[in-house]
Amino acid sequence: MSEVKLSGVSKAFGSTTALADVDLTVSSGELTAVLGPSGCGKTTLLRIVAGFVRADRGRVEIDGRAVVDENVHVAPERRGVAIVPQEGALFPHLDVAGNISYGLPRGGSTRTKVDEMLELVGLGGLGKRRPDQLSGGQQQRVALARALAPSPRVVVLDEPFSALDAGLRAQVRDEVSQVLRGIDATAIIVTHDQEEALSMADSVAVMEQGRLVMHGSPSEVYYRPVDLEVARFVGDLVELPGTKSGLEVDTILGRLPIHGSSLPADGPVVAVIRPEQIRVDGRVERGAKGAHVDDVSFFGHDALARLTVHSGDVPLRVLARTVAPLQRGDDVAIRVIGPALVYPA
Ligand code: ATP
Repeated sequence: MSEVKLSGVSKAFGSTTALADVDLTVSSGELTAVLGPSGCGKTTLLRIVAGFVRADRGRVEIDGRAVVDENVHVAPERRGVAIVPQEGALFPHLDVAGNISYGLPRGGSTRTKVDEMLELVGLGGLGKRRPDQLSGGQQQRVALARALAPSPRVVVLDEPFSALDAGLRAQVRDEVSQVLRGIDATAIIVTHDQEEALSMADSVAVMEQGRLVMHGSPSEVYYRPVDLEVARFVGDLVELPGTKSGLEVDTILGRLPIHGSSLPADGPVVAVIRPEQIRVDGRVERGAKGAHVDDVSFFGHDALARLTVHSGDVPLRVLARTVAPLQRGDDVAIRVIGPALVYPA
């Protein structure tokens, strides 16, 4: 178990700023997901922790010891950091056992260690298979076993599930997070998949254009995003023009209570809620006040409905996550559950 601490880490590639003054602490034994749009600097951050990219400025500590500082650059193999790359990157000419033992010192205990790792990732008995005789999910678990075999202090994973299809992805994701938790590894996982970040991690670090804009628990990042950009990036959003007055905001969907700490001044604001806060109360007669269903995406467990709400002459499109059996063309009554967040207009 090891704490990883980045302080003031910056990196530019020519005129492109990849990281700008990033401070991030990942507590010992914690799984932190680094989330952000393509090109925001996630992989660069990971590679600086692992030692494959040199920072221009700043400090990285593992367990209180600097591995990156003004005059320090500890070699990757001496940091105790294991990396799980995208798509596994297994050695095709080695069997599974050979892949897992690759970074281990030769000796009598290697075989035991390989068997232990295979059991850990649920692949007991498959040591003799070649990578091309495994499914994508099994290959990714071998990559994890290879990374964990030398008992690293820290594991960094760079979009490790991006090559897997949706169903397998969710399963392997759960398995990998269980394995990481089982060995109390400190782990940093890079992803641009918000659902992956929210469901797997103890904390989520959201990046935008090289900056770390928010680091909090999955529910803080989802329900209390620091700004509208983070709110838009993490999950679907319903944005309503509103007028703030004290701890309430007037919107087309009614007067809503507000939560949040640093609130903007009274007056025009953007009020935001999540689609699951919109309750569809039932079908109403055509022409009744309420919302018109433009389209429905059905997911089985629920559905996402695109609705148009009319207020005067201004139609407003909103999203509702609902289990109600809606169809395109329905007219429904809707109401909002819970508070809104407000941001400067
Ligand atoms: P993605 O989700 O697309 O993988 P990312 O968030 O991981 O993106 P990075 O790969 O860290 O982003 O890249 C951050 C920025 O730095 C991007 O603008 C990228 O083009 C640039 N960059 C990264 N590596 C290099 C390099 N070796 N040379 C030049 N520019 C680079």
